[in-house]
Amino acid sequence: MRGHRPHPVPTLRRVHPTDPRDAAPPLTVLVVEDEPTLAEAVAVRLRGEGFAVHVRGDGPAGVAAATEHRPDLVVLDLMLPGYDGLEVCRRIQAERPVPVLMLTARDDETDKLVGLAVGADDYLTKPFSMRELVARVHALIRRVRRAAELASADVGVPPQRIGDLEIDRSGRRVRRGELEVHLTPIEFDLLACLARQPQAVLTREQLLAQVWDWADASGTRTVDSHVKALRRKLGPDLIRTVHGIGYGLETP
Ligand code: CA
Repeated sequence: MRGHRPHPVPTLRRVHPTDPRDAAPPLTVLVVEDEPTLAEAVAVRLRGEGFAVHVRGDGPAGVAAATEHRPDLVVLDLMLPGYDGLEVCRRIQAERPVPVLMLTARDDETDKLVGLAVGADDYLTKPFSMRELVARVHALIRRVRRAAELASADVGVPPQRIGDLEIDRSGRRVRRGELEVHLTPIEFDLLACLARQPQAVLTREQLLAQVWDWADASGTRTVDSHVKALRRKLGPDLIRTVHGIGYGLETP
């Protein structure tokens, strides 16, 4: 997508938010949700997981709280008074990169949002169980941490070339032919994962485990949405669908 800025990897400050031996302050989560009952349930559950939680009920207050509290992760409702979740996400991300878990009302909204590349890292459709929310939050934190580790391990590694595709892992940049293509963090991780095993076909479950760090297979639709987004940006011919199995790169 033109005009989408390269998206640096957020860094998380501490390693074990719930480890009682860790004297450092807990990781901070900002919850922006205008349904008070849901916001409170999410906050209570996340506090139970050892996070420090701030709750805001509208867009402008959410943006202000992100500036004030510098959260490690944001749980962000899409439909909000003031600015909607897209605008909140843009404003928060313009200030500093922070992982965002977006709450949507319908599955097809997620498809649309992935295509818009608003900078959210993951999506959860309402209604969801608190167990699912907590699993996603932990997975997102693990994923961001691992991406940061991979990026630092890849410093100085020359770009990988597959046909006219060039993947620079250390700079987290992608070119196809002469054009630089701006990917969101999750799109980059998905492409990099496929490119690590360019001859292989990976199942949706494998991609969920390796890119999203989800243990269960409930989110295979998420994989499909992000593959669609990659095809829109990189061309329809780069990633092939192997029906009934999964996805692989089309190698020359
Ligand atoms: Ca709402």
